[in-house]
Amino acid sequence: MSRTVLRALLLAAFAPLAAASAATPELPAMPAIGPDARVLIVSPHPDDESLCCGGLIATARRAGAAVSIVWITSGGGFRLDAMVVQKKARPKRSDMRALARRRIGEAESAARELGVGPDARYFLGYPDRGLLRLLLDHYESPYRSKYTGANAVPWEVAVSPGSPYDGASLERDFASVLDRVRPTLVLAPSPYDAHPDHRASGILALRVLGTRGELANARFWIVHGGRGWPRPRGLYPDLPQTPPPRGASLPWEMFTVDTDAREVKRLALRMHETQLKVMGRKMMSFVRATELYSPLPVAADDARCIEALPCPPDGLPEDEPAL
Ligand SMILES: [Zn+2]
Repeated sequence: MSRTVLRALLLAAFAPLAAASAATPELPAMPAIGPDARVLIVSPHPDDESLCCGGLIATARRAGAAVSIVWITSGGGFRLDAMVVQKKARPKRSDMRALARRRIGEAESAARELGVGPDARYFLGYPDRGLLRLLLDHYESPYRSKYTGANAVPWEVAVSPGSPYDGASLERDFASVLDRVRPTLVLAPSPYDAHPDHRASGILALRVLGTRGELANARFWIVHGGRGWPRPRGLYPDLPQTPPPRGASLPWEMFTVDTDAREVKRLALRMHETQLKVMGRKMMSFVRATELYSPLPVAADDARCIEALPCPPDGLPEDEPAL
């Protein structure tokens, strides 16, 4: 599909939502999730599933809905994390692969806490900190991760072990998860998120859902929302979440997370031990009385972001450089 056609489809799908949100000054409530819903969480790394959406997942599972999670990468590109966790000043490729393996295990544990069973967990295994490259200039030629050294999916647990690290394979594997889950609600990162893997995962979801005519099922979240956000830092579970500075132009809806679901989310986050070591306070500041989701991936007048790349636009607040 050409970029022009995709852009027209996206704008047509989202224009009515943009008009409605402009007329509503306060944050509207997100519709409740019933027992017939099939929810798919698009998680760029192990931990994002809990950070973005842990409260919604716990609430949806309690209501009897089906919830699945697809992890796009395995988190083997976070060098600072490998340095701290493995106590090495210069982690080698084998150390980065070991970190990724450990993070897959942490994701399994977090999913178990959230009530998402083994059959609903999908690991794609594409390269951490490499997803934008796959979509930009390695659509058909394999990309080699400078962190793990892999140029194909190395994990037996993955949806398609041995798939080359290229954009076409990534889109195919993501589409195969959609075929299996047939979601009625997809929660994906907004292209305004500061982390390049998150932006790429958002673009991936937009491309594949757009091609299938399923964009109306999507809602968007932000985890890397600008330096210092969420504020205040730390565990304040009774406070509502505030809109992230990078997503100030988005028409946020509020999902209420009750005290039981907040506790499930906190316990799920505790499973990500490698991440807690380097950014525990930031992670706990996502345990709040609300989670925010936008029916639009980007502002309605920001079409170049949903056409493809580069994205996001210049001038958005930055995020912590190490994350
Ligand atoms: Zn992430």
